[in-house]
Amino acid sequence: MQNTQNNIVIDDAWFTVSKLDETTFAISEYGHWEKVHSYLLIGQQRAALIDTGLGIDNMKRMTDLLTDLPIIVLTTHVHVDHIGSHGQYPEIYVHEAEEDWLVSGIKGLSIEQIRKDIAREITRPVPASFNPATYTPYRGKPQGLLHDGDVIELGERGLVVYHTPGHSPGHIALFDPSRGYLFTGDLLYDETPVYAFYPTTSPEDLVNSLLKISEIAGVKQIYGGHNRIGLDPGLLEVVKDAVRELREKDLVRFGTGIHRFNGFSVQF
Ligand SMILES: [Zn+2]
Ligand SMILES: [Zn+2]
Repeated sequence: MQNTQNNIVIDDAWFTVSKLDETTFAISEYGHWEKVHSYLLIGQQRAALIDTGLGIDNMKRMTDLLTDLPIIVLTTHVHVDHIGSHGQYPEIYVHEAEEDWLVSGIKGLSIEQIRKDIAREITRPVPASFNPATYTPYRGKPQGLLHDGDVIELGERGLVVYHTPGHSPGHIALFDPSRGYLFTGDLLYDETPVYAFYPTTSPEDLVNSLLKISEIAGVKQIYGGHNRIGLDPGLLEVVKDAVRELREKDLVRFGTGIHRFNGFSVQF
């Protein structure tokens, strides 16, 4: 298991940058209850930024320190805690099933609720530019759409797109075969339950997606969108067993609550 505490290269007022290897960085927001991570992957020709955080501070300030290459933004899914700094970057990609959310917002999710969630349990000083009363999630037209099986080429480093709906309809995971890194967004992380209990989620899709990523060969490290950075690939075996158990017990349904396993939990 990687101990990322030892790999912190920048501890800014808001962002914490951890070096995962020479050309891969996690950009974390530990000052917020959600402990969100975005990831910068640097290739020979360009870099990919997987998600852009909460939008409380400007993430470009950090990525400018880490690479001079052009950066493309790959969106794991269009929840507000993953698209915060999208507006700072010229080239945004999203799965085709969430293009309309990026352009028009998520219907039925009130701005009051979003502002309440963004402003609570903040433990670090926020920049003067952040005002929870006027905070507005990013909206804009993406430059490109992602599909299951797409390969994003960064130059001697390719990323494979896996469509993994459930937590949201157009959620994706990204696999970097050159390093064995699997970026799982909100499909898989530790400490707090991954969930599918909102109207736009699907417990059935979520377990199918968990099973799908558990079958990817060559995973050496798992990087989720929240909580601890760098999970052991052995977790994928736990996931496989968990899915079997959930199905056997007929628990893959809304309202069945939190189900705990060794290393992760899920809430329906
Ligand atoms: Zn989410
Ligand atoms: Zn999230």
